Amino acid sequence: MIAGERCTRACGFCAVTTAKPFALDQEEPERVAEAIRRLKLRHVVITAVARDDLADGGSDHFASTIKAARRINPGIVIEVLVPDFNGKRESLERVLQAKPEVFNHNLETVERLTPFVRSRAKYQLSLAFLKQAKELDPAVVTKSGLMLGLGESEVEVFQAMDDLRAAAVQVLTLGQYLRPTPRHLPVVEYIMPAAFELYKEIALQKGFEYVAAGPLVRSSYHASDYSPKRAGFSEAGGVKNSLV
Ligand code: SF4
Repeated sequence: MIAGERCTRACGFCAVTTAKPFALDQEEPERVAEAIRRLKLRHVVITAVARDDLADGGSDHFASTIKAARRINPGIVIEVLVPDFNGKRESLERVLQAKPEVFNHNLETVERLTPFVRSRAKYQLSLAFLKQAKELDPAVVTKSGLMLGLGESEVEVFQAMDDLRAAAVQVLTLGQYLRPTPRHLPVVEYIMPAAFELYKEIALQKGFEYVAAGPLVRSSYHASDYSPKRAGFSEAGGVKNSLV
């Protein structure tokens, strides 16, 4: 996770500290690249806090980190898990121009619950953001994820799947929401493993190319199991490592 430990947002499910962030560490991209090299990673997931305090939302820092990681680690598969940059097209372009193989932005929950779960975000904005990413770079693999157990209905989950497919999202993760502390949103329901299996089956029928679904699935869960074509990365060669 780059760009500091302080986030400008306060999503109801997230344990990251909400506070005024510090200035960006300009040497971080090189250090992340060096960490990837030392850890011998072949697939890395790079994410960040939301940096609404910065005009570019931290997109330039993302791009610098992708470029440094690629320069020091040729052949690496780079997946980014980005905030919505308040929907700014130039921020999105900046990240995509650095050519990550996988572009992930989480929808997190169904439309009805979005104002309660991630109050500063908008469901439709996230969908438009994902759609625009695919339009700007048709070769990038687009990915998103939902937490289940926050009080959503099955019908709402199916609708979210349809909405993501309409935005041309290719990869989906579905996991159980777990409450980090009593100050966070309560768990409304524990979804049974069989229900996750059914969701996975239906998501694949709806056209997702790859679906990870299960109680312990998170957005970077076994991320390397999916093989982006651009990098020529084979499924059999996947390494289950990431920096998140
Ligand atoms: S924007 Fe991301 S890091 Fe910040 S509170 Fe929300 S989920 Fe956590």
